[in-house]
Amino acid sequence: MLNQKLQDAINEQIKNELYSGYLYLAMSAYFEASSLPGFARWMRLQAAEEQEHALKFFDYVHDRGSRVTLKAIDQPPMDWDSPLAVFEDTLEHERKVTGLINKLYELALEGNDYAAQAMLQWFIEEQVEEEKNAEQIVATLKMVGDKGQALVMMDRALGERGAD
Ligand code: MG
Repeated sequence: MLNQKLQDAINEQIKNELYSGYLYLAMSAYFEASSLPGFARWMRLQAAEEQEHALKFFDYVHDRGSRVTLKAIDQPPMDWDSPLAVFEDTLEHERKVTGLINKLYELALEGNDYAAQAMLQWFIEEQVEEEKNAEQIVATLKMVGDKGQALVMMDRALGERGAD
């Protein structure tokens, strides 16, 4: 069994991951409405990844003989000023998530829960990837600007993201 503190915090994180998925789905909808189908597809796959993260925690709580509690998910924003603004929000959001994962790890350390520490290692490494991806897209969008041929080419490139 997980200790109460860690169980509560992981249940909170299930909600946070689902919110991430909700946020990225909202961003996908924004891109659909902006005639940028490649960006929309990229965000839709990102949303699906967040759903998987939530389910990883969901399964883990059960693996440890503890109880999942599902919480209410906030409504995400629906509008942004530009593709750059979307990815700046994405980067900021991922940095926040990294902080939350680090806090979970601290709780696992505090509770001498070595198994939870091992499980959380995966998420710690995943966050390095998530921040790197968002940082790279922000940097590219700053070079491209929000309009024109370069943005269309970037839309094509992002649309080629695989379902990994
Ligand atoms: Mg996640």
